[in-house]
Amino acid sequence: MNMIAISLQSGSSGNCIYIEAGGVRLLIDAGITGVQAQDRLAAHGRDIRTVDAVIISHDHGDHIRHAGVYQRKFGIPIYVTPATLAAAAARCNLGKLTDVRAFRACDKIRFGDVLVYAIPTPHDGVDGSVFVVEAGKKRIGVLTDLGHVFKDLTRIVASLDAVFLESNYDPDMLAAGPYPSYLKQRIRGPHGHISNLEAAELLRRASDEKRLQWACLSHLSEENNHPDVALKTHREVTSGNVTLYVADRYQSTKIFTVL
Ligand SMILES: [Zn+2]
Ligand SMILES: [Zn+2]
Repeated sequence: MNMIAISLQSGSSGNCIYIEAGGVRLLIDAGITGVQAQDRLAAHGRDIRTVDAVIISHDHGDHIRHAGVYQRKFGIPIYVTPATLAAAAARCNLGKLTDVRAFRACDKIRFGDVLVYAIPTPHDGVDGSVFVVEAGKKRIGVLTDLGHVFKDLTRIVASLDAVFLESNYDPDMLAAGPYPSYLKQRIRGPHGHISNLEAAELLRRASDEKRLQWACLSHLSEENNHPDVALKTHREVTSGNVTLYVADRYQSTKIFTVL
């Protein structure tokens, strides 16, 4: 079964990733507006009204802010953990939600022949998870807002055919950058984000299995990273063993395939 994936946007200004396999269409996160998601999918020949589910990773606004619109305007069920929903509803105005389907951050969720594994993370959301989407023998990971390189993460990445992997910051740019020190501490701390180097070393270890077809570097910081800087680190560390792309902070990528 072939899988396709598109990052409609990735980063602190909004996250939304589309995955399609076996007639199942999923969105991971709802951090861009309904119109943006609709238009960017339409540009790739996809109708957002045919999406089967939007699955929310955690309660931060850049992942859940617009979920209510996806539901009301396009009729898409929202899959979210109860704690994530409660935390997000207390902070952003999600509006009235009539089709919420709860999961726990260690569940597997079935959509036809497609399975979505939720994997809990140490990121500082209240009940965050990342996802592996599996269709037949193919597996794509959507792994951002990781906190740190937690136990099992290398094994998980090595089990994938393709991955959207957080590569949030360049340590030197973060250190020299404009953020106040408490924010710098949060980002590089155990519940923040992972750096280009951490992500690259993770890919290098995982690529020993020779399964990964590509990695799309995701959730890059605007102030503390740059696509060229991230790619340079990754190329040095992975020695060209993984095909690399970068998810854009403001627009969609091309359609990626997993064969
Ligand atoms: Zn985020
Ligand atoms: Zn987050």
